[in-house]
Amino acid sequence: MAASTKKTIFLAVCVFIALLPLLAMFIFPGTPEQQALNQRNWLLTLSVALGFVGLSVAGLQFLPVAKIPWLADSLELDDMYHFHHVVSLGSVMLCILHPVLLVFNNVTTLQLFKFWEAPWTVLAGWIGLFALILIAFSSMFRKSIKLDYTGWVAVHAILASSILIFATIHLFKVNKYMSKQAMLVIWIAQIVIWVGIGIYLRVLKPLAIAKVPFVVEKVVDESPDTYSLYLKPEGEVKQFRAGQVAWISVGTQPFRVARNPFSYSGSDQASDGCLRFSIKELGEFTRKTRSLKPGDKLLVDGPYGTFDLKNPHIDNGLVMLAGGIGIAPMMSILHTMDDTGDKRPVWLFYGDFNENTRLFEEELADLESRLNLKVLRVLEKPLDADYPLKGYVSQGLLDSELPAEGRENLYYFMCGPIPMMVAMERILERMGIPGEKISTEKYEMA
Ligand SMILES: Cc1cc2nc3c(=O)[nH]c(=O)nc-3n(C[C@H](O)[C@H](O)[C@H](O)COP(=O)(O)OP(=O)(O)OC[C@H]3O[C@@H](n4cnc5c(N)ncnc54)[C@H](O)[C@@H]3O)c2cc1C
Repeated sequence: MAASTKKTIFLAVCVFIALLPLLAMFIFPGTPEQQALNQRNWLLTLSVALGFVGLSVAGLQFLPVAKIPWLADSLELDDMYHFHHVVSLGSVMLCILHPVLLVFNNVTTLQLFKFWEAPWTVLAGWIGLFALILIAFSSMFRKSIKLDYTGWVAVHAILASSILIFATIHLFKVNKYMSKQAMLVIWIAQIVIWVGIGIYLRVLKPLAIAKVPFVVEKVVDESPDTYSLYLKPEGEVKQFRAGQVAWISVGTQPFRVARNPFSYSGSDQASDGCLRFSIKELGEFTRKTRSLKPGDKLLVDGPYGTFDLKNPHIDNGLVMLAGGIGIAPMMSILHTMDDTGDKRPVWLFYGDFNENTRLFEEELADLESRLNLKVLRVLEKPLDADYPLKGYVSQGLLDSELPAEGRENLYYFMCGPIPMMVAMERILERMGIPGEKISTEKYEMA
């Protein structure tokens, strides 16, 4: 099935789930007296409807979109996180409108805004709403409030559980619509699904991953701040594809909060399941993984991501745009092409800071001698004043290196820090490269 069809089906299912409580409201409107009352109090009905949809939409966040195998080849990780952000903001808006409309309907409802005096069933609704707002706030402003990523994951999990518990209490105890059997069935089914997904993701999946730990074979320095981790599985593991990513956690304890994402950087042709990750030391986690010793164990949750060398769009050639450690997945792709004798044309535009920070010089020269590959290394501030490619990867450079005819038929894969990705997206747009010929991997999530 085509990726776009899968995306459409997925979105249609999400919209259907979100609107399910509304369908129950309108298909089973109750007795004629209740219907007349609803029509008179249409603002109240609207407020309840928005609350229902807001909560349903919030519940969609429990869907492990990145982990549904059927969707894995159609939704890029970046798209999934974008979807998650947009949907959660939508649910916050809808849930805020719920109490606001109640006040417009009946100004005495303002009393309920004194939540410290409100009945506990209403208070439960307020707690659920505040938790929802806090999730959105802490995600949008995580860096400004100096919340580290692992702390944010923990806060996120606590707030999500609070929403589930308190919103459910509010829903079942306050609303007269819950007396309708269809509505009751819909909400019980939704909650069972949310809790089921939570148990699968937080308990069953980590336990399954912990069954096959990986052993550190070696840690090799690639530059003063970058190193490669070589791992060997202690059992059979799912084969990854070049260009994909995995989440690593140190040790064999299945329920660790600290688990960070990294691209595979070795060939996907290794038959023994051995992996390489190339990692830039940035903070606590990447310092810890650097100090691992041969024989240490860790867990790898993957693969995830949609990049696929078998994608027919790549048949005319691949243009790689990498910034800094964004070179990691490119190394995986190039080693895989080398192992499979793939002679499709590849251009690698790789931006880094200077001669000391640039990575994989010899490895790339070696690959360049065997593959149909051209490497263009652009250094922002080269130490050598005569270095030819100074500054950033620019449209001028792409124009001069890529064939004048048919560049829109090439496939573009970019990976790196957000400012570089934004600049590259603009350049590709100006060059008239269609969206389906571009794949992105942003090294940033929340
Ligand atoms: C899909 C993806 C693939 C990546 N692949 C690579 C790679 O191959 N090599 C590499 O060196 N880096 C990669 N990164 C970035 C890497 O995950 C972070 O640099 C690393 O987790 C930083 O952790 P830290 O504790 O050392 O540093 P910190 O100082 O704690 O983090 C630095 C920044 O990294 C981001 N980050 C931290 N933890 C996470 C996390 N669990 N999930 C997502 N973002 C996080 C945050 O934006 C944070 O502000 C990738 C990121 C993503 C999202």
